Amino acid sequence: MDVRLEGNRLTDNTHRDELDAKDAAALRDKLYNATIIERIDVNPDLARFRVKPDIPIPEFEPGQYVALGLGNWEPRLEGTQQEKVPEKRLSKLTRRAYSISCPMLDQTGKLAPVNSIDYLEFYVTLVRHASSPNNNPPALTPRLFCLREGDRIEVQKKITGHYTLGDVKSEESVLMLGTGTGEAPHNAMVTSLLAGGHQGRIVSVTSVRHQKDLAYTREHQELMRQFPQYCYLPYTTREPINLDSHHPQYVGKQYLQELFTSGKLASAANTDFIPEKTHVFLCGNPAMIGYVPPGAEPLESPGMLTVLKEAGFRDSTDAQGPGFVRFEKYW
Ligand SMILES: Cc1cc2nc3c(=O)[nH]c(=O)nc-3n(C[C@H](O)[C@H](O)[C@H](O)COP(=O)(O)OP(=O)(O)OC[C@H]3O[C@@H](n4cnc5c(N)ncnc54)[C@H](O)[C@@H]3O)c2cc1C
Repeated sequence: MDVRLEGNRLTDNTHRDELDAKDAAALRDKLYNATIIERIDVNPDLARFRVKPDIPIPEFEPGQYVALGLGNWEPRLEGTQQEKVPEKRLSKLTRRAYSISCPMLDQTGKLAPVNSIDYLEFYVTLVRHASSPNNNPPALTPRLFCLREGDRIEVQKKITGHYTLGDVKSEESVLMLGTGTGEAPHNAMVTSLLAGGHQGRIVSVTSVRHQKDLAYTREHQELMRQFPQYCYLPYTTREPINLDSHHPQYVGKQYLQELFTSGKLASAANTDFIPEKTHVFLCGNPAMIGYVPPGAEPLESPGMLTVLKEAGFRDSTDAQGPGFVRFEKYW
């Protein structure tokens, strides 16, 4: 495979030239073990990547994650922060963890749980710049977003993680709250519950800035049509209805904490989230989750963990059962 530099691929990474195309091709042959079989662009900064490993996918539980790796020699997307890769790291891979998402529906519109497909779907947001000047430039996503169908990548062999459904009884309720791509593991969990005949209420809530940041709307709507126990609730925080107080449908910024405490979430989901009967899962932005390590000061803006504790839930990284809140922080 050549180092291709056409289209939106990089033009300005001077360090890329330190590895010539032949060396890059040899490293790809040696280190990559999977192929991008499909890329679904949601918007320029958000995409679903379908990746097929060369060997069969090991068994895993919905909600788990795996690391994806790309060489530091790979080009970076134009319009992303530049990165100076030290020469000794140039031939190495950078790896990042990604929750395994799910296509949710097959070609015919029927439920497609993760264990029914022979590829891994990832739901990834492009990080263009480091969140603060003290942090390193984002390493993986500016390279990942250069890839197209047929390109190669590394998928680490071990699929892992404790953010899984555990023992959810059929009649119990499941509430999943995600920000942005934090919806990914929930998509896998939802389809698994539905495929297993779960009868209790399953509520998947996603908070995004804009409507265009919702990648699975069609799939969720179809699942709600087919499974009355399933409820998908998307909320935005940066649309005119959130920001313009003169807008006829003005609702203000819709943060999950407020939606929960005000009872709006329960009313939209048409169910009460009673701790004795409800399993809660939180995934994505650490500020939404709001984990406070033992002994640390409380947060200025409490996250969902605080809000849920006040409502009678208990947080846990591994304890399972109704009343427990499980969480996965993306950074
Ligand atoms: C268990 C686990 C599962 C993850 N699953 C996903 C996933 O399914 N999809 C996904 O897009 N990311 C996921 N991430 C984050 C992912 O591992 C990378 O950190 C992210 O893709 C950015 O990689 P990077 O090298 O480009 O930048 P990094 O140097 O890794 O991150 C730079 C900064 O980008 C921001 N950032 C990181 N991830 C996100 C995100 N998802 N949305 C918005 N801002 C972010 C943070 O401010 C972070 O400090 C997961 C992380 C963990 C720990």
